[in-house]
Amino acid sequence: MRIVVLAGGIGGARFLRGLQRAVPDADITVIGNTGDDIHLFGLKVCPDLDTVMYTLGGGINEEQGWGRTDETFHLKEELAAYGVGPEWFGLGDRDFATHIVRTQMLSAGYPLSAVTEALCDRWKPGVRLIPMSDDRVETHVAVEIDGQRKVIHFQEYWVRLRASVPAEAVVPVGAEQAKPAPGVLEALAEADVILFPPSNPVVSIGTILAVPGIREAIADAGVPVVGLSPIISDAPVRGMADKVLAAVGVESTATAVAEHYGSGLLDGWLVDTVDASAVERVEAAGIRCRAVPLMMSDLDTAAQMAREALTLAEEVRES
Ligand code: GDP
Ligand code: CA
Repeated sequence: MRIVVLAGGIGGARFLRGLQRAVPDADITVIGNTGDDIHLFGLKVCPDLDTVMYTLGGGINEEQGWGRTDETFHLKEELAAYGVGPEWFGLGDRDFATHIVRTQMLSAGYPLSAVTEALCDRWKPGVRLIPMSDDRVETHVAVEIDGQRKVIHFQEYWVRLRASVPAEAVVPVGAEQAKPAPGVLEALAEADVILFPPSNPVVSIGTILAVPGIREAIADAGVPVVGLSPIISDAPVRGMADKVLAAVGVESTATAVAEHYGSGLLDGWLVDTVDASAVERVEAAGIRCRAVPLMMSDLDTAAQMAREALTLAEEVRES
């Protein structure tokens, strides 16, 4: 079975680990979000690609959900001693090596997709990880600070400000001109099923869908497209997804997120059992819906979520 998954960072990566456990023989392609990418200290950092790569490759800091296990921060401390920041972005010594290799390869002329493949050669994530695009796309957020409207990098909004001010707009800068990376459209065309894990609907999956051609390829693939809600009990399970949902006028509910993707894209949607009352409304919107436990408290629960998503996909296929 060929499965394509659109993924952001933590939610996507943890779901993928469950999917691998549920269907060990499946051929899984991950289309990763690169809108979170940022240039720091002259290095190209790709937080979501790395979270997927480290999580599936066994190098992730489990408690944090991002960054390397067994990490130290000497380099960051030395930079800070020179007064060189930003101090708010956590880059550890081990993690730095990834960004140095990536930047070196990019400078030598390799596209990001080839660089990602090379990095995965070490980590062996067990999936084919492709960035959504080789072109630069950077998510920016419009905010009002001290009465002044400013546009800041997504990481500054998310990590430095912890989304503490309302996001007035979320813009994937460069997306309109970006082309899907080699292999993205091919993987979608050859997929047996396409999954949206419980990743951020705006700044993870929304950014991937903003690359021209990707949304169309999913809608035209003619195979079941099934998503899992990152919202449980009207709140994100982790993080501040409600802040960026508000920016695009979407309520922080499992139903509203399904309706935001819409029946033109989604065939099936899983909500948590506590949101069972949402099923009827999602189905009224033309999306087949089931309520199942959606808390990824461990690998087994994530695997069970993946099984439920694939079961729903088969129901959709047979209908
Ligand atoms: P990020 O790039 O690290 O922010 O990660 P993603 O975009 O992949 O996923 C973030 C989303 O995952 C957040 O909106 C969370 O609500 C959601 N999430 C995290 N853990 C869980 C979980 O255990 N269950 C569900 N349903 N959603 C989760
Ligand atoms: Ca992210």
